[in-house]
Amino acid sequence: MRCDVTVLGAGIFGLAIAWACVLRGAKVRVIDPNGIGSGSSGGVVGALAPHVPEQWNAKKQFQFEALDGAADFWAGVAEAAKLPSGYARVGRLQPILDAAGLELAQARAAGAKTLWQGRYVWDIRPAADYAPWISSPTGQVIYDTLSARLAPRQGLIALAAALRAKGAQIVSDGPHSGVVVEATGAAGLDELSDAFGTLVGAGQKGQAAILDADMGGLPQLFIDGVHFVPHEGPNGHGQVAIGSTSERDYTEASTTDAHLDALIEKARRLCPTLSQARVVTRWAGLRPRAKSRAPMLGRHPLRTDHFIANGGFKIGFGIAPRVADVMADLVLEGRDTIPPDFAPAVSLSAQT
Ligand SMILES: Cc1cc2nc3c(=O)[nH]c(=O)nc-3n(C[C@H](O)[C@H](O)[C@H](O)COP(=O)(O)OP(=O)(O)OC[C@H]3O[C@@H](n4cnc5c(N)ncnc54)[C@H](O)[C@@H]3O)c2cc1C
Repeated sequence: MRCDVTVLGAGIFGLAIAWACVLRGAKVRVIDPNGIGSGSSGGVVGALAPHVPEQWNAKKQFQFEALDGAADFWAGVAEAAKLPSGYARVGRLQPILDAAGLELAQARAAGAKTLWQGRYVWDIRPAADYAPWISSPTGQVIYDTLSARLAPRQGLIALAAALRAKGAQIVSDGPHSGVVVEATGAAGLDELSDAFGTLVGAGQKGQAAILDADMGGLPQLFIDGVHFVPHEGPNGHGQVAIGSTSERDYTEASTTDAHLDALIEKARRLCPTLSQARVVTRWAGLRPRAKSRAPMLGRHPLRTDHFIANGGFKIGFGIAPRVADVMADLVLEGRDTIPPDFAPAVSLSAQT
């Protein structure tokens, strides 16, 4: 098949871009020698969580539009695939630690009314409403309704099935035809760093786990830097993903170690309801982190006839629906709707 678009990389960026292109009528081939979800996207956490509604900028607006569009994006995928994606807008709870935190939460609640266009709230609620899952020194928690969750592996399986249902190919090898989009994650950043002889970006290791515990329809929790994300487990019994560690220095990219043990201990301490919960899955992967920490979207810096979509870092799943749209605008219609801070040149020139 001669294609309009060849996408290199079957992670969330590559598959989401392929999907946006297919929806616009393009013939698409995705090539990944390692298979679907073999990189950072094959993980377990899937927190789709917003930046705080204050000090607004293009990056926050981009992420807001992505999270706002995620329900439709994943519903379309599930419908075409005839498979669930594991997406749900579950909301999120965070403890309010002190009087200063309460004041900040009130300011952000007001900010959300305008910045989130009155469609989602940043609310202050009694922690007791969510006992025993969360407690708070002030007795209050923040509840936002923009946060959602996606089951990363299930989402990728659904996305791949949706693409195939619409005639796209996903293969381990094959010819490049049409425009080429490189969404190759950490490997793509390593290649750029080698070619330019300076750090452009790199994989940052992260580890996460799934615990056997049912949160019974509660929102996800974010406590002292730890995400607790409720997912559907087998037989309708819930599970909780906890994440994540961050290691820039590592020897083995895909093995879990004492960093994850420490995270699990911390999670049990922060949320004693999980103290006896069995660990079902341990997982490690490399987040593609551009030096600017922002996504890299646009013309490929080395192969200027190719495009690049990389640097999803900690929020790749959260921003994927919007990344897919702006990349389809660019590669299919020549329209550049990408925030200037996401230009690959920004990462090339960023200071560490
Ligand atoms: C522990 C952990 C927890 C995370 N939690 C969250 C979270 O809660 N929410 C969130 O939004 N994000 C989260 N992330 C980040 C998210 O997983 C990444 O941002 C996202 O997966 C990046 O997707 P990607 O498609 O760019 O890269 P990848 O998923 O790494 O995909 C790149 C693909 O390219 C392929 N490839 C490499 N070289 C080539 C080549 N030459 N040709 C073809 N294919 C090639 C690889 O095989 C790979 O499949 C987390 C990451 C980690 C590690």
